[in-house]
Amino acid sequence: MKVIFEKNNNSDGINLTNETKKIDFLPEKFLRTNNVGLPQLSELDVMRHYKELSDMNFCIEKGFYPLGSCTMKYNPKVNEFLASLDEFDIHPNIKDENAQGALKLMFNLQNALLEVTGMDAITLQPSAGAHGELTGMMIIKKYFDTIGQSRTKVIIPDSAHGTNPASAKMAGFDIVEIKSNNKGQVDIEALKSVLNSDVAAIMMTNPNTLGIFEENVKEISDLMHKNGSLLYYDGANFNAIMGYTNPKLMGFDVVHLNLHKTFSTPHGGGGPGAGVVAVVDKLKEYLPKPVIAFDGNKYYRNYDIKNSIGSVKDFCGNFSVLVRAYAYILMMGKNLKLATENAVLNANYLKEKLKKYYELPYNEPCMHEFVITGEKQKAQNGVSTLNIAKALMDKNTHPPTVYFPLIVHEAIMIEPTESENKQVLDEFINTMIQIAKECELNPQYVLDAPHNTPVKKIDEVTAARHPDLNFKG
Ligand SMILES: *Cc1c(COP(=O)(O)O)cnc(C)c1O
Repeated sequence: MKVIFEKNNNSDGINLTNETKKIDFLPEKFLRTNNVGLPQLSELDVMRHYKELSDMNFCIEKGFYPLGSCTMKYNPKVNEFLASLDEFDIHPNIKDENAQGALKLMFNLQNALLEVTGMDAITLQPSAGAHGELTGMMIIKKYFDTIGQSRTKVIIPDSAHGTNPASAKMAGFDIVEIKSNNKGQVDIEALKSVLNSDVAAIMMTNPNTLGIFEENVKEISDLMHKNGSLLYYDGANFNAIMGYTNPKLMGFDVVHLNLHKTFSTPHGGGGPGAGVVAVVDKLKEYLPKPVIAFDGNKYYRNYDIKNSIGSVKDFCGNFSVLVRAYAYILMMGKNLKLATENAVLNANYLKEKLKKYYELPYNEPCMHEFVITGEKQKAQNGVSTLNIAKALMDKNTHPPTVYFPLIVHEAIMIEPTESENKQVLDEFINTMIQIAKECELNPQYVLDAPHNTPVKKIDEVTAARHPDLNFKG
């Protein structure tokens, strides 16, 4: 079919000619009769417009991004180059023999991730941490269905990320929440009191969302296994332990990793991601299909998985994220352990420096992140954590995660990652101290923040009471 464009006198500049319309592949009533009315702009004008918009954005390339739980580490630019290689631009339905390179990459990535997690088998298919959780819970469900046990409950600590209960519920379980103790860890007595033959699993994050290592994790896994239950490991905080210990040693049966967090892919605003799921041997037969296999001669997609829960995403998952993760692992090599070390060191450095100015709900050594609160500022100066977050935006710093975990009032959750140098950390410390002082001396200034951002203080009360959800305004 030939489509002909020609210049006309309308403001659009170009239009379909009558001859094209005569092709008549669309019913007349769907054909446009008026002009689109696009503005007349040169490429340069358009480029400047989008560059200006992008300059308003904040990103890791522009400044410190200590968003707790999200691991906004530096994403090496070479990853982007590798993920965009023409050789990887292949149709997902290509025959295995014509995609040996891509399959080998995925096979090697599977093995590397099995090595760091200590687990026995893995799927690369899920496309986010939450998607991995759902996949893992579906595997656990199918396991108990297959062995003829009806277990309906999943235990989740009150410090957990909100996706944990949501995923367990979506997989068909009921949620039993248990309290944390005064060290910010799972309360063993609370756990024992809800353990019975209905319990399929516990979902844990270790270190947990307070950045605290669950020191009783072995006792917990023994208790759960004695009860015939399984343990799910939310690996979003894997950046804190990689190379030092692993979920298998702690007694977990199912694990997800957020490749976009620990293994460096630009993420945020919803993607892209990869939430790979690794399991112990007895759960291998339930993995989604395909998994990538090697028969000693060629790499192939193995669809022959006995009790597979099916597919959880099309084809092999978010391939370009897998390329980035593999590149990152190869580049880092043994230094993956050094990344862990520096992530933990940086967090402890910030925590020690800031605890004089902000309250610390759990005064424990932290792992790769920690939680302080704005409770003192709220009580004494009427300035909330949200105001403090906005004040940070004025000072070229992305605010930390706020009001999470839910068990800490006015929570400020800080994760510096291993990528930052001491100068950046010291600048952040000074900024936080400066804001703490402003809260005391000139609270109104903090209450009115942000002062320097493209969008100034918004009217949150009106926005909450009269939400305008129509994107056209
Ligand atoms: C980020 C995160 C998740 C969810 O991962 P997504 O990739 O955003 O879906 C789950 N648990 C914890 C602790 C997290 O930090």
